[in-house]
Amino acid sequence: MNTMTAAEKTILARFIDLTTAYHRGGYRSVVEREYCFHNDEEIATIAAPIAADKQQVAENPGPAYDSISRIADDVRACQACSLCRTRKNAVPGEGVLDPQVMVIGEGPGADEDASGRPFVGRAGQLLDRMLDSIGLSRERNCFIANVVKCRPPDNRDPRPEETAACASFIARQIQLLKPRFILSAGRVSAQTLLNTGESLGRLRGKFFDYPAGDAVIPLIVSYHPSALLRNEDYKRPAWEDLKLLRSRLAGTNQ
Ligand code: URA
Repeated sequence: MNTMTAAEKTILARFIDLTTAYHRGGYRSVVEREYCFHNDEEIATIAAPIAADKQQVAENPGPAYDSISRIADDVRACQACSLCRTRKNAVPGEGVLDPQVMVIGEGPGADEDASGRPFVGRAGQLLDRMLDSIGLSRERNCFIANVVKCRPPDNRDPRPEETAACASFIARQIQLLKPRFILSAGRVSAQTLLNTGESLGRLRGKFFDYPAGDAVIPLIVSYHPSALLRNEDYKRPAWEDLKLLRSRLAGTNQ
């Protein structure tokens, strides 16, 4: 019996990949997040065919990611959600392969969609200046990516099913790159990575543990650079967050 659509199979294949990784000891929060993002109707659609099709899908569990460039290829080929129909370019991420810091934003805007590169518009230019102020850059010691790899039309927030469809990409990127720190920029990134509905105000300015396979990566949340462009009041707390990150990078506590 095979009643699943291609999109459902993709979600299920990812779920099985993640579950397998979970049973090997990693990805706990990611697996739990996959559950959280589905409402009852979606769960019923996905869960019902699992029993009948589990064997078949387990034998063909989807792409086996083995390198950052392979993940980028898979991102560019991805059709797991409807954003693939409106994107000009998918935006996998860029930077060094042994990053001190992995900066994770929300999703591409118009400039990023046009170029296929993350954070290249006004917010990106501000991000580059902020990183530079604490000795970081995408050329030397950072990797920059987003939780969602394709532009949501009209700059709307990504929908839960879009974030869920993309979840394995960012999880695998983090797992492969193993940055010393993650800087999560903005509410959508923070809530997605930490699997929480907590407000940005409560999440920012402190470190969380992000489980990545056999490693635990300290993750700090701060304001998205676009928010700083809109509201001057966020600049001071954002600078406090950056200083906190700088002190941890230098091995000192402030
Ligand atoms: N905003 C984001 O969150 N990511 C980008 O790449 C650009 C703008």
